Amino acid sequence: MMAGLISTCAFIILCCLSGPCFGSRKLLVFLIDGFRYDYIDELDNMPGFREIVDNGVKVDYITPEFPSLSFPNYYSLMTGRHCEVHQMTGNYMWDQTSLKEFNIGTNPDSRLPTWWEGSEPLWVTMQKLKKDVYMYYWPGCDVTILGVRPAYCKQPESDKPEKRLTDAIEHALNALNRGQIAMATVYYENIDVEGHHHGPQSSQVKTAILNLDIALQTLNRKIEEKNLQEDLNVIMFSDHGMTDIQWMEKVIELQLYINMSDIIKMMDRGPVVSLWPKPAKFESVYRNLSIARNMKVYKKPEIPQRFHYKGGKFVAALTLVADPGWFITESIAKLPYWQNGTGNGWQRGWHGYDNEFVDMRGFFLARGPDFRKNYKAAPIRTVDVYNLMCSVLGIQPLPNNGSWSRVEYMLSGAATQSPPFLLGTAASVLLALVLTF
Ligand SMILES: [Zn+2]
Ligand SMILES: [Zn+2]
Repeated sequence: MMAGLISTCAFIILCCLSGPCFGSRKLLVFLIDGFRYDYIDELDNMPGFREIVDNGVKVDYITPEFPSLSFPNYYSLMTGRHCEVHQMTGNYMWDQTSLKEFNIGTNPDSRLPTWWEGSEPLWVTMQKLKKDVYMYYWPGCDVTILGVRPAYCKQPESDKPEKRLTDAIEHALNALNRGQIAMATVYYENIDVEGHHHGPQSSQVKTAILNLDIALQTLNRKIEEKNLQEDLNVIMFSDHGMTDIQWMEKVIELQLYINMSDIIKMMDRGPVVSLWPKPAKFESVYRNLSIARNMKVYKKPEIPQRFHYKGGKFVAALTLVADPGWFITESIAKLPYWQNGTGNGWQRGWHGYDNEFVDMRGFFLARGPDFRKNYKAAPIRTVDVYNLMCSVLGIQPLPNNGSWSRVEYMLSGAATQSPPFLLGTAASVLLALVLTF
């Protein structure tokens, strides 16, 4: 038994020297939906962002997972795993076995464990370790995953989005400051909403970013007021970017190619569409869709390996992927009308395309005692973020698809060179054992 203990300690030491398992500070995480990497290229009018960039790490961009949609990337950020591994493969999914649907988290069946238990997200791991997590407006925080819920899950109310955000910042910082919790996570949706309605270049998106900046100025001020600079790490990132679309013009209408009655199930519209044709019609549906321009159609086994998608258990028999700027739907008449204030209800921005498409790139910033200051870092990928969060929290990461070498150098020397707690404790236990025997 003692030998086992010794080897466990040795394992912990080795693990700490070779991988991400040090640090144990508090962490505040922001997920800013649909914030494209280049929205912060110009920081002249954004003192909130500028202070974070000047005092922290800014990566060039973050490449999302495929499809570059929200739910798949929310889960890759929190698990470090590709979509085919964690199984959250779309905003809209269908389970062919149970015939249940996941509709972008809105229907009661979206809370079924089947969609969420493909992997254990970071907040569940932390709660299991008795490290409390407060989550604000975070998609999925109200779902029981592997029998666990976060200590606190705040649902969005009808307040203005900026007010919701500053309320969350104040509440989270107080809880972190009191030492009540180890991590708080805040979700903010408004940049994505304005991007869809008006397009990424629009004045409405610019205004939304300036409003976000005002909230970040509040964040920076409160961190100082509460004297949390040396105690708290802050990480913020987006799930994907946004591109211009010409809705109603660059549309691929499936009914022009196939008889929709040959389809058992169709999930989602837009850049990525999932189709389950009747088995007898599978080949003809595939053949007829293959001639459609501005779109690729894949049988499940033929989906490119680089998407890390085809192994997902909810992936359809046929996956359609539109070229950038194009939108797949059954027919123009069935395009969902979405009032955007311009009187025509058209959409001007979308995401979900090939994850290597430049406009799908998101942003990533981090500041705090464990991060380098005024540091420009090379691009990373969505799956890399998990290891970094685990590292500054002092949590042993679960097996994942992230690259530690792509993020390790963002940490300040102290964090990378002298893993403070685990190594110290493990080394003393080992030393004590060696001395006893
Ligand atoms: Zn999103
Ligand atoms: Zn969106």
